[in-house]
Amino acid sequence: MAKIAEKVAGKEKKVECNDKKCPFHGNLKTRGIYLEGIVVSDKMDRTVIVQRDYYRKVPKYERYMAVRSRIPAHNPPCINAKVGDRVRIEECRRLSKTVSFVVTKKLN
Ligand SMILES: [Zn+2]
Repeated sequence: MAKIAEKVAGKEKKVECNDKKCPFHGNLKTRGIYLEGIVVSDKMDRTVIVQRDYYRKVPKYERYMAVRSRIPAHNPPCINAKVGDRVRIEECRRLSKTVSFVVTKKLN
């Protein structure tokens, strides 16, 4: 029984990726900036929303302001990031009206 379970687990790991917009299996090049953030929505098909919370200095008041940015990013099937995952996203060509980043790695 254990062997069967292993076989099933092995099959699950091998995700077929025939996504043209995948930086590893397709023909998408990344260039420009890369960022880290947390996936807050995976409702779309092959697209996730990556949120970043950081502080920005406001010189006039000599204080820091909390800033939140939400970036739509392409999520290839071989990476398959889910809500709550910390991910690295890299800039690429514009993939749709709003998407110009692609998820390249899950960072626990
Ligand atoms: Zn892939």
